[in-house]
Amino acid sequence: MSGITLRELAGIEVERLKGVGDKKRAALAAVGITNVLDLITTYPRRWVDRTNEARIADLVPGEEALVLATVRTVRGRRTRNRRSMVTVGVGDGSGRMEVVFFNQPWRERQLREGLPVALFGKADTYRGGLQMANPIVDLIGDRTGRIVPIYPQSEKAQLNTWEMAAWVEEALRRCDERGIADPVPASVRERLGLEDRGAAFRHIHVPDEIQQKEFARRRLAFDELLRVQLVLVLRKRAMEREQLGIEHVVDGELLGRFYDVLPHDLTAAQRRTIAEILEDLAGPHPMHRLLQGDVGAGKTVVAVAAMLAAVQGGHQAALMAPTEVLAEQHAAGVRALLADVTVPDPGNLFGDRPLRIELLTNRVTGADRKDVMAGLADGSVDVAIGTHALIQEAVDFHSLGVVVVDEQHRFGVEQRAALRDKTTAAVVPDTLVMTATPIPRTAAMTVYGDLDVSVLDELPPGRTPIVTKWANGPLLEAEVWADVREQVAAGRQAYVVCPLIEESEKLEVASAQQTFDRLLNGELAGLRMGLLHGRLGAADKEATMELFRAGRLDVLVATTVIEVGVDVPNATVMVILDADRFGIAQLHQLRGRVGRGEHASRCWLVTQQTDESSPRVEALVATADGFELAEVDLDLRGEGTLMSSAQKGRSDLKLASLRRDRKLVELAREAAFEIVDADAHLDDHPDLADELDLIFSDRDEEFLSRS
Ligand code: ADP
Ligand code: MG
Repeated sequence: MSGITLRELAGIEVERLKGVGDKKRAALAAVGITNVLDLITTYPRRWVDRTNEARIADLVPGEEALVLATVRTVRGRRTRNRRSMVTVGVGDGSGRMEVVFFNQPWRERQLREGLPVALFGKADTYRGGLQMANPIVDLIGDRTGRIVPIYPQSEKAQLNTWEMAAWVEEALRRCDERGIADPVPASVRERLGLEDRGAAFRHIHVPDEIQQKEFARRRLAFDELLRVQLVLVLRKRAMEREQLGIEHVVDGELLGRFYDVLPHDLTAAQRRTIAEILEDLAGPHPMHRLLQGDVGAGKTVVAVAAMLAAVQGGHQAALMAPTEVLAEQHAAGVRALLADVTVPDPGNLFGDRPLRIELLTNRVTGADRKDVMAGLADGSVDVAIGTHALIQEAVDFHSLGVVVVDEQHRFGVEQRAALRDKTTAAVVPDTLVMTATPIPRTAAMTVYGDLDVSVLDELPPGRTPIVTKWANGPLLEAEVWADVREQVAAGRQAYVVCPLIEESEKLEVASAQQTFDRLLNGELAGLRMGLLHGRLGAADKEATMELFRAGRLDVLVATTVIEVGVDVPNATVMVILDADRFGIAQLHQLRGRVGRGEHASRCWLVTQQTDESSPRVEALVATADGFELAEVDLDLRGEGTLMSSAQKGRSDLKLASLRRDRKLVELAREAAFEIVDADAHLDDHPDLADELDLIFSDRDEEFLSRS
């Protein structure tokens, strides 16, 4: 008989386990556990190794240790400054100590006389005895065994870790006879040194040796990652197989003309990326490619090359930006870049015709709008640049060949798909997604795993690197304002970014106004200053931006509204106030507003005086490389912030961490390609297919259908 599959385990309700009656069933359901699969994939949060425990008598003051002890006394009171304080006396065979909990009044109810507890913390001497303050407490029940798994406990749901352990053990014991099936091909398991799945489940829950849980974790984390990668790779291969695209002309004259008018040589990275894209475009299947490139890496040129490839074959191209300001900026930039490029027109006796580039946002109205729409429909518009207005119902393209989506993270997946569907032809246009938010490689494999990835990892030559400094406290801040005045005196311009106030735009605007007033009447008196924030109307914003662009303002005080896309090469100083409130990616984006011209630029990160380290600020000072910063960010914040919570919840990653398991992500992706390329529909891997179906189908329509 073959082993028990995950689907079978999912079919066994928890009531079938000993001691699970109505009450416990409800308690388990409250934490999302309704069947045996849920139960055994609820992993211990820690493991207590009894052979490593210290006796109270052996505790060394100042060192962290784990002790197993029994509660003797519990006493709660309020301190003079009204904090709650619970004092618990504990003892083991060797001695006694006092444990105090501040601001955890519920400990008085949780800890009762006679209860065995595992305490992890630092003991100190206090009034001649030993005391541990706010240790980690695990209620372990009076269980024997060398290694005790500690499950996530829920006070409210009334589940104890020892009950969980008992149910898990019972469930695993019942699987013993048939064993748990292992659908991962033996060749993959052997190559990667992965233990059998059944053994892994046993070893993660009830390890005989503490190291066993590590092997088990690696195996089970691999399974999670493999499932995600299989879904993405299956999807990617299916798109490649099934979607019919346009075989674009990539060696036509138009592209050549474009290269000829470029004021600069392409960087090697631009050349490589364009080659990757053109190869996709020439192929019969639509491109789905992500272009990652740091701020200022020169993505626009790459995008334009892709769009011209479509145009030279008689198709249209669209570029979609997340905001009207950005769309307008793109339109101006692309028009300037292509001003002297005409389209070879064999049907025309006089040879060439001009390129038609049109802007479509909600600000384009009336007759202009009608005109653009008609041009999109009859094919006379070659390149359309716009916002989400491009994907509205009424917009029809004659033959959309290439779609470029800028700053993808601001768009929903559905929007991308909608733009691709905007064509009357039966073919799917090629899609290029551009992002300036660097994502660590392995994270990109998971978040964008169904896309091919090109990386622009080289800045155009001639940039003067931005010097970044941390102004820690008022003394250094004075230096910042002196620097601003000096730069302005030399004819340059500066940005001042006001503190981020996440909770309230109103407060943020008020604080920006305050900063503006303070600087205007104080440190920066006499300079020409403008203020930009989210509560200004579009026209006011644009007017202020225009003044700054034209050099008629020296200093632009702004909230983060200037984060993306603003391009003023004469601005050489970026001052970010309360910089420690911003995330790494945001600081990096803001910093990218300077260093765009010939003059040396600097970025000041201002914080309140502090003796503590500020890892994000320090990271920005240490490097200007967006990818390096993305890695630091991932280390500091974890992957939760990378994938939207929806993606994370849906992606079944309980053990695997994109941060910890970088190598494993790559191995899982490789294995997924190996499996799918040999067996496109998983016909020879029915158990694996069934597992994907089980884990992703009902709750994950959206995850599966993302593109
Ligand atoms: P991104 O969109 O990647 O942030 P852009 O496409 O806006 O960057 O380019 C940033 C600046 O670099 C622009 O002023 C552009 O003209 C310039 N640039 C792009 N490619 C090159 C190159 N190969 N050599 C010199 N300058 C370049
Ligand atoms: Mg850009």
